[in-house]
Amino acid sequence: MDSSGQAPELDTVFNYVNGARHPVGSEDALAIYNPATGENTSRVICSTPRDVDVAVRAAKTAFPGWSETPPLKRARTMTAFLGLLHGNKDRLAEIITAEHGKVFSDAQGEVDRAIESVEFACGIPQLLKGDFSDQASAGIDNWTLRQPLGVVAGVTPFNFPVMVPAWMFPVAIACGNCFILKPSPTDPTPSIIIAELMTEAGFPPGVFNVVQGDRVAVEALLDHPDVAALSFVGSTPVANKIYERGATNGKRVQALGGAKNHLVVMPDADLDKAVDGLIGAAYGSAGERCMAISVAVLVGDAADKVIPRLESRARDLCIGSGMDPKSEMGPIVTESALQRISAFIDDGVAEGADLLVDGRGYSVGGTNRGYFLGASLFDHVTPDMRIYREEIFGPVLSCVRVDTLEEAIGLVNAHEYGNGVSCYTRSGEIARLFGRRIQVGMVGINVPIPVPMAWHGFGGWKRSLFGDMHAYGEEGVRFYTKQKSIMQRWPEDIQDGAEFVMPTVS
Ligand code: NAD
Repeated sequence: MDSSGQAPELDTVFNYVNGARHPVGSEDALAIYNPATGENTSRVICSTPRDVDVAVRAAKTAFPGWSETPPLKRARTMTAFLGLLHGNKDRLAEIITAEHGKVFSDAQGEVDRAIESVEFACGIPQLLKGDFSDQASAGIDNWTLRQPLGVVAGVTPFNFPVMVPAWMFPVAIACGNCFILKPSPTDPTPSIIIAELMTEAGFPPGVFNVVQGDRVAVEALLDHPDVAALSFVGSTPVANKIYERGATNGKRVQALGGAKNHLVVMPDADLDKAVDGLIGAAYGSAGERCMAISVAVLVGDAADKVIPRLESRARDLCIGSGMDPKSEMGPIVTESALQRISAFIDDGVAEGADLLVDGRGYSVGGTNRGYFLGASLFDHVTPDMRIYREEIFGPVLSCVRVDTLEEAIGLVNAHEYGNGVSCYTRSGEIARLFGRRIQVGMVGINVPIPVPMAWHGFGGWKRSLFGDMHAYGEEGVRFYTKQKSIMQRWPEDIQDGAEFVMPTVS
């Protein structure tokens, strides 16, 4: 309320179409909160299929000019955007912290990882180079080239409002496509800043567009005949549905889903470093990372040595507002997420796991403000428990005790998710065997969160990814382009007369 007793008017986050904010469209809106205070700070519109159609048309109109722009020129515009991203890093990080809650230094790190994807896309002339076979047959050359798809869309989750969109749009646009981003309605403001920076960098109107909203907007993109491909990152049930609906509509779809990432600690590991790795990877960003570690698999006598250290470190975590430089962990993203995670902790207790550190009922500064939860740590978790089987997506670490490496590998491989995994050991032999036998897309050896570099591509296995290609890197270039093969010869090399046999090398 302001001094007159009236509720102040909240800012509204609109769509971004054709190089400008697009303050028309749906009347429906969702509230945006600051999770550190619980305050309703702004609102975001929910696009209707008509609003989506306006954006798709803008992108479709821009496509012929943009796709004909030489890759080197596209790369130069991307390089201008890269410079702007560097200059706006802290501004973006502040908004991430205000809407998501993660600590400011972590938000800065997120923007840094987004910058890496843009840097990769700046090399697009090299990445789009085709293959050429001289004299494939007498007087005939054959070559392949990759061409953009047209209008492509990206649907992204709340937990990385800058980095995950950057897994998609820089490569897609550098390849010559026009892009529509549908960000999470929980923290949508960075999408508009990114759009404005893209326009400032010189991308023509319609090349990068944003439609706000939720399920209705996503389904409109999936059903729109002029959307050629869709990249999705979010939870597995939604990823599964999106993959099916997009495929039914004849679209190219990559849908990255949820996770349950294990970190295996071998008895020979440097246990101090393993504990550091577990604490940071389980509780950093309040466990709201798709690569967060949610299960510690403690092999042999590592368990009795590691668990007391984890317990004291989890109790001592500094939790508070993401803008407080002392905070190591910020709030949970929303009140409903806080309730969902707390219910998981209730279930773990009911199913018989030992709750060594209980994060429920945590308050910062003795107030009820904000969606805070302390770190939680369970021991003696077994694979039949719900806290082991399901993705919690919060600051809850489950410890499972096993006797051998074989058992640890079997446990990881039997899980329905296969996003990330890590193994702490000093043995090269164990490291090699683990890396080769584990059924998971991204593996760390003494690295707790092995998010691949921009040129290696990101993606899980099993129910952590639906589709054939990983996100970004060269896999991204392949996803956002289609291959064409051209065979060519000139009239003087063509023999007279029709040929009725299968052409072979002559
Ligand atoms: P979510 O699945 O609820 O939402 C993701 C996106 O889908 C949002 O843009 C949302 O508006 C939209 N959406 C939600 N329900 C929909 C529906 N029924 N139909 C169509 N669209 C719908 O995910 P979230 O809560 O925003 O993010 C957390 C999840 O994302 C976790 O499961 C996490 O593991 C996963 N994630 C995965 C990766 C990865 O690379 N595999 C990366 C980050 C996050």
